[in-house]
Amino acid sequence: MGTLATLCFPGPADPTVTEAVARTLRGLERRLTVNGPPSARAASQVEAINAAAGRAAVEVDPEVYGLVRTAVIASREHRDSFNALIGPVVKAWGIGFDGAHVPDDAAIAALLSLTDPEEVEMDDARSTVRLGRPGMRLDLGAIAKGYAADRAADVCREHGVEGGLIDLGGNVVAMGRSDVGVPWQVGIQSPFDVRGEVLGTVSAQDESVVTSGVYERVLEVGGKRYHHMIDPLTGRPFQTDLASVTVVAASSTKADLWATIAQAGGLDEGFRRVSEAYGVEAVFITHDGSIVATPGLEARLTLRSA
Ligand code: AMP
Ligand code: MG
Repeated sequence: MGTLATLCFPGPADPTVTEAVARTLRGLERRLTVNGPPSARAASQVEAINAAAGRAAVEVDPEVYGLVRTAVIASREHRDSFNALIGPVVKAWGIGFDGAHVPDDAAIAALLSLTDPEEVEMDDARSTVRLGRPGMRLDLGAIAKGYAADRAADVCREHGVEGGLIDLGGNVVAMGRSDVGVPWQVGIQSPFDVRGEVLGTVSAQDESVVTSGVYERVLEVGGKRYHHMIDPLTGRPFQTDLASVTVVAASSTKADLWATIAQAGGLDEGFRRVSEAYGVEAVFITHDGSIVATPGLEARLTLRSA
């Protein structure tokens, strides 16, 4: 998934747990990826759906079907911010991969016409998915890491791990309590500093904390920086006053989804959307350094004094 997974739990390191988690993560990556060389995508069920776009309905395993369904339904509901059918546009930019470039306006306009989430047919009984038109592409990148983090936590629990931290490249699951019996303190990456430099912490227990920032994957052309989160309305990277959004929710899939939704429209709009959503809280960090938390998080947020 293009990231590093870290497991942290009290007691001696247990290779049976780490190996079981690694197997689960690799299995998901294999079935979900839409990136990398053809050999890396050969077993991807999402790529099988994409390859049959405009033609056949593709049967996928029930787990993949469930995640696709979640992503497509969220895309229908939040289309101007989260759209998993944005694949053709993401591919054209290629940000974070070899050959990344700024596509021209005509190319973007043409590709945007292939991103309608209503043009996906799903059959719950048969676990089949059909993309309505050739050239359509599903991209689960905005929720796959969150989903994988949730599954990693399940595997840990099955192995008797009650408390621990799982970090999948900024998708953190705080399982139970810390080894000293208090909620975990999860760092919020500073969007302005090197990785590992935190602006503060949020306490979390049996929850996930997910950060999406405009600093994560970037393409620089002619002094301009383009990041990897695409505005489904313009086909270009979101351009708002936000440098990052950190979302807290019960599941990492949900937190990851909302970390993308909350980017659209900038601080005011993102704050409004998160406030209206059930079971989602967020910390917004703007380019000029303002830090704004939704009311439900205020008491749980500890900021580093500048
Ligand atoms: P995240 O790392 O969760 O911020 O997700 C970013 C990834 O999701 C990108 O690398 C793309 O693969 C995909 N993506 C980009 N923009 C969107 C969007 N507006 N809605 C859904 N997926 C997106
Ligand atoms: Mg996301």
